[in-house]
Amino acid sequence: MADPLQPYNSPVHRVLQGLFDRHRECRDGNVATYIPELAKVDPEKFGICVATTDGYVYEVGDTRHPFTIQSISKPFVYGLALDDHGPETMARKVGVEPSGDAFNAISLGEEDGRPVNPMINAGAIATTGQIKSADAAARIAKILETFGLYAGRPLDIDMAVYESETRTGHRNRAIGHLLRNYDVLTDDPTPAVDVYFRQCSILVDCRDLAVMAATLANQGVNPATQQRAIRPEHVESVLSVMASCGMYDSSGGWIYEVGMPAKSGVGGGVLAVLPGQFGIGVFSPRLDTKGNSVRAIRVCADLSRAWQLHQFNPPYSAHSSLRHAYTAAEKHSTRSRRQQEVDCLWDQGRTIRVVEVQGALSLATTEPIVREILKGLAGLRSLIIDFRHVMGLNAAAAAILADLAGQLRENAVCVLFTGAAQLSEAARALVHRFGDAAAAEVFRFPSLDAGLEACEDALLRDVFAETEPRIRDVGEYEIAAGMAAEERAVFESLLTTRHFVRGEYIVRQGDEAHSLFLIAKGVVGVWTGLLVEDARRVASCSVGMMAGGMAFIDGQPRAATLLAEDDVECAVLERSDFDLLQQSHPAIYARILRNIAASLAAKLRLADMHLEVLSCRRG
Ligand code: GLN
Repeated sequence: MADPLQPYNSPVHRVLQGLFDRHRECRDGNVATYIPELAKVDPEKFGICVATTDGYVYEVGDTRHPFTIQSISKPFVYGLALDDHGPETMARKVGVEPSGDAFNAISLGEEDGRPVNPMINAGAIATTGQIKSADAAARIAKILETFGLYAGRPLDIDMAVYESETRTGHRNRAIGHLLRNYDVLTDDPTPAVDVYFRQCSILVDCRDLAVMAATLANQGVNPATQQRAIRPEHVESVLSVMASCGMYDSSGGWIYEVGMPAKSGVGGGVLAVLPGQFGIGVFSPRLDTKGNSVRAIRVCADLSRAWQLHQFNPPYSAHSSLRHAYTAAEKHSTRSRRQQEVDCLWDQGRTIRVVEVQGALSLATTEPIVREILKGLAGLRSLIIDFRHVMGLNAAAAAILADLAGQLRENAVCVLFTGAAQLSEAARALVHRFGDAAAAEVFRFPSLDAGLEACEDALLRDVFAETEPRIRDVGEYEIAAGMAAEERAVFESLLTTRHFVRGEYIVRQGDEAHSLFLIAKGVVGVWTGLLVEDARRVASCSVGMMAGGMAFIDGQPRAATLLAEDDVECAVLERSDFDLLQQSHPAIYARILRNIAASLAAKLRLADMHLEVLSCRRG
């Protein structure tokens, strides 16, 4: 309903409303009468629903009017049977070939009597007969419960329709006996047929159909309740039989024109699934000669055209998921380092490669990434594959990435996957491809910056052959650069030594600033954010560098928290002492001031480098 206070309507809703208006005058077809109770439905009823895989439902028309699910029950019971027995056992009971016959045709295999597919009555009765349960009552209870998971609410049976079909369903009973004759059903067929009649009489509304379809679109998880209705590995089997057999002897024309897996029922419902996107439910009881709702078919065909939903016409061809590729010579981590280390990174940073990937990783979108990585293997020490912008990853993509990582690791290249923590279930597909020990190494850095920093550290350790870098002479501090020996002595006399243990705060964001910290040993992390949950490590400083320079210079409160990441030793310069230098040793004062400015400039330059790399990324 349009909200009178809200002058705008969702364009999505307006398209559905337009289709509703266009087809509501259509009175072609007839309601089903072969089940006498179905003849009583109001033929004018008409509803259209679209349910998204994030749980939103668009509704137009009579979307809350109950009707019986009928044959739309078949794919869901087939899914339940697959969950109970697996595809091999089910394949012995029922085929997956379109019959080209009517829904009630006796399409059984010539020799084994196996129904050709689970979407026609014969196949559906055979399928219902497979559901594991103690007795018929438990079986229908299990079916009802499963349908309730799909719909996200408890469902009931329309007993009048059930009794009506029980009185008249001789043909289905005959099919049941034929199935018994061929040993497709191994017990008395009567209870299986009875449960089948009951499952067909489950009451749903148009909204339920859309949500049930969206659950299949969402790999079996109801988007609103987040409850799983079917094992994920069986969803594609259910959708496949819907695509080839769901509309009975109109299935070929349907997939040709509408292009999505669907199922209809003689109650007037049609349900269609856009895998990964959304579910559609349409309800209108007048049927064509094949038993499919006339308006529903037209709505789905129009909607498919309007929204370009045909599954063989994907919205875009698979693009590479490569977001950006560079080396540590082009972009360093946010660690501020001494000049000789920075020079070394400019010189040898190309041995550390970073590949940032994005989007949904499938074979087609991952293969170009693999090709890109293979192009630059000469002299490679470390490879970082950053997953921060990855939305999902399938098993095929995981397999080729893990294979490449395995080959590189065998050749002593350090491989890191960063930013993968947010991927949860999908990332596990990748993690499982490594042994526990390898996974612990490969995934040890949650953020790209931390990974890059570690790769740089390893490179610098090798080049400078220092196991535990530390300052041995005051002249090695960046802010002492250019001081003469006697100036250094004066400077040194102003410094006091302080130690911080790993994990200790050196200063906190918001504190008043009195001192400047010169790092003699260890690494200091720079964190912003006052609350633990939004704290972010924005930079770090290592031996020789100053920390806390900004507030020291401008007298503002501390802009960031400084945290000792190792056991840290600092030389501390108090502002009061520094201020005195202005009178007593103006040249030293000016030198320090200039060096602080140079250090802040280097930090700005590092920030600019990050911005530049960010702004020229693809996609
Ligand atoms: N209960 C109905 C029958 O078996 C279901 C048929 C259908 O919806 N096509 O005849």
